[in-house]
Amino acid sequence: MERRVALVTGANRGIGLEACRQLARLGLRVILTARREEKGKEAVASLTAEGLPVAFHPLDVDSAPDRVRIAEFITREYGRLDVLINNAGISVDGNTPALEVSLDEIVRPTLETNFYGALHLTQLFVPLMRQNHYGRIVNVSSGLGSFSKMTAGRLAYRLSKVAMNAMTRVFADELQDTNILVNAMTPGWVRTHMGGMNADRSVEEGADTITWLATLPDDGPRGRFFKDRQDFPW
Ligand code: NDP
Repeated sequence: MERRVALVTGANRGIGLEACRQLARLGLRVILTARREEKGKEAVASLTAEGLPVAFHPLDVDSAPDRVRIAEFITREYGRLDVLINNAGISVDGNTPALEVSLDEIVRPTLETNFYGALHLTQLFVPLMRQNHYGRIVNVSSGLGSFSKMTAGRLAYRLSKVAMNAMTRVFADELQDTNILVNAMTPGWVRTHMGGMNADRSVEEGADTITWLATLPDDGPRGRFFKDRQDFPW
């Protein structure tokens, strides 16, 4: 069987980079993408030095031309995309109360990257997945997107992950008669640039459920929200 092709967004560092590492170890052909070319290439070099060759392609998920270019690249070079990991994300609310948060400076940019980026890429790649009768889409969400934990603070970030969770359910349902499985997950609180160094989890632990969902068997779950490979409350 041909090796599966996986694309990971926001993969120059943190959980995205670790997801690339884990998928490459399993033998997938990984396309590591990043909005900053230099940082992306450094990340590729670090994996190559570990004996894990991965490809690089620039992708700012906010950029329509970038999205078109990567779709063209993947179609031309591979003719398929088996796995899409919507990982790129920002968290820029700080401690601003919801009543004061700037729509233009905080809310819209957060939704643009965390939600619209994932939505655009899903719409872009599902046709290619359908053509090959296989697809695994993993939406890297957050516990802060769970209604069971909807408390004060981080309005924009929460909205972006709630929207991502809703998108997961809608796409999973629309694709229920296909072999394209769409799921969301939360990595927990992970030691990365976003999570900070006081977080209780390593990137290895954070990325584990991504890798699991990216390689589900055909009869695996669809339209669900996971943490540590277990169902997590929406
Ligand atoms: P990092 O800040 O370490 O990494 C985020 C990555 O996303 C970086 O590579 C960043 O690139 C990239 N990125 C940001 N904006 C864009 C964009 N427009 N286009 C492409 N890439 C972009 O964070 P984590 O690794 O912790 O986060 C990964 C995911 O996990 C996020 O979706 C986050 O919401 C989620 N998550 C993380 C938690 C944690 O505790 N760490 C908890 C719950 C969820 P650059 O380096 O250029 O900024």
